[in-house]
Amino acid sequence: MSLNPNNALNFSGGPGALPEVVLNQVQQAIINVPEAGLSILGISHRSDWFENVVRETENNIRTLLGLPSDYHILFLQGGATQQFSMVPMTMLRGKKHPAEYFDTGYWSRKVVTEAMREGPVRVIWSGEEHGYRRLPTDEELDFSPDAPYIHYVSNETVEGLQFNRILGRDDVPRVCDMSSDFLSKPCEADKFSLIYAHAQKNIGPAGVTIVLVRDSVVQNAPDNLPSFLDYRRQVESHSNFNTPPVFAIYVVLLVTRWLLNDVGGLENMAQINQQKAKLLYGLIDGSNEFYRPWGEAAFRSDMNVAFNLPTKELEALFLNEATAAGFSGLGGHRAIGGVRASIYNALTLGAVEKLTGFMEDFRFKHHAKY
Ligand SMILES: *Cc1c(COP(=O)(O)O)cnc(C)c1O
Repeated sequence: MSLNPNNALNFSGGPGALPEVVLNQVQQAIINVPEAGLSILGISHRSDWFENVVRETENNIRTLLGLPSDYHILFLQGGATQQFSMVPMTMLRGKKHPAEYFDTGYWSRKVVTEAMREGPVRVIWSGEEHGYRRLPTDEELDFSPDAPYIHYVSNETVEGLQFNRILGRDDVPRVCDMSSDFLSKPCEADKFSLIYAHAQKNIGPAGVTIVLVRDSVVQNAPDNLPSFLDYRRQVESHSNFNTPPVFAIYVVLLVTRWLLNDVGGLENMAQINQQKAKLLYGLIDGSNEFYRPWGEAAFRSDMNVAFNLPTKELEALFLNEATAAGFSGLGGHRAIGGVRASIYNALTLGAVEKLTGFMEDFRFKHHAKY
């Protein structure tokens, strides 16, 4: 039974759509979590039940990613934005050599601003002169062996640009903001010293941020950090330092169960996600430039498909007609406008087929107007 058919056509950039089976379980849990006999909104974070929720969610993420045992998994608050500061507080304070950051789009620019408050930063590559329509190739990058770490954003959510390779060198710690493509495909997590991703794009509601951090990073953290912002304290208290977002973490648990049991793991998830992206980009590329992709083909994201129409008027008409047809969340990010279809894990191939069908009809109706 479909609770609300509009959810299936929600292409929002974030918070993103969640799988219908998960929404059904969440609806039930608001009234009664079967194993606990209570509403999820009123269960103590100090209960055995919640301890098991944290443990199972951690184990599921470990299994999905094949994460080695020297990594901690944390469920924190403050969004990805808090990690923009927590990472350099932990890894950059007092360092002589600059950490290496990228300027590949809207989100990485924000990360750089925060890092510069904590210590020396070198922007190793900027997409500015390319209008943020592409990412660097390996030939354009020259990493220093002395950097305390490198940081990049694996998927630029606003521009729809995604790295399909791991950057950096093995002797320098890698840190990555994977907020908008975490658990959308396999990733060699053990090549990173720290990965962070908030839940609300791909794997849950807003309110919790997942951090995977190697034990050596935690051990080397400075001593004088506020407890809440100290990974060491968070590790010691097992993501239960103060009242954690119990509800959000529970939903992430349900999504990880869905990924393991219904989808069958991240290889399968990646295959489905690639199919969806291929269908949408195929339609865009075959539209005789009626639909104009934002990013250069080699760097386009499987998660966020950003594009323009020939005129602002047609873009406005497109968004109006799409809304009338039951689609939502298709307006581009306020920073760049245009159209953006976010096709996170929960968006089905069927939903993307409906969107491409709509786009084809729209083009036939309006292509003569420009
Ligand atoms: C949405 C987004 C953010 C912002 O996260 P908050 O949880 O709102 O702080 C950061 N990084 C990326 C890549 C994003 O897509």
